[in-house]
Amino acid sequence: MTDCIFCKIISGDIPGDIVYQDDDVLAFRDLTPQAPMHVLVIPKKHISTINDIQPEDAALIGKMFLAAQQVAKEEGYTERGYRTVMNCNAEAGQSVFHIHLHVLAGRAMHWPPG
Ligand code: AMP
Repeated sequence: MTDCIFCKIISGDIPGDIVYQDDDVLAFRDLTPQAPMHVLVIPKKHISTINDIQPEDAALIGKMFLAAQQVAKEEGYTERGYRTVMNCNAEAGQSVFHIHLHVLAGRAMHWPPG
């Protein structure tokens, strides 16, 4: 999608601090990190919100979690722990409308989230 900032990171039109990619997903560091590690995992296919995920995307969504697992492992957080978050629409705090899995680690996380 031409006006999507994350599609532009996928295409290389704008830079991203990429930490993992394969044929289906890309992971890069968040511009405004909320934890010592804050990576966003996105599908290379444009999907605007969780509401737009289709049954045929099920494997793709699973690959996003496998990428998150891989990044956490490479950065040494497998045992310490990490949090994955995906916001859907405005009230949940979604600001970029290309689904992304936040992967946060390196500090104690609070519950419930704000
Ligand atoms: P959300 O508010 O859940 O939609 O999360 C969007 C995230 O994208 C925020 O944490 C932003 O800091 C991050 N973000 C926005 N633009 C960029 C960018 N060009 N590169 C990396 N992260 C970005």
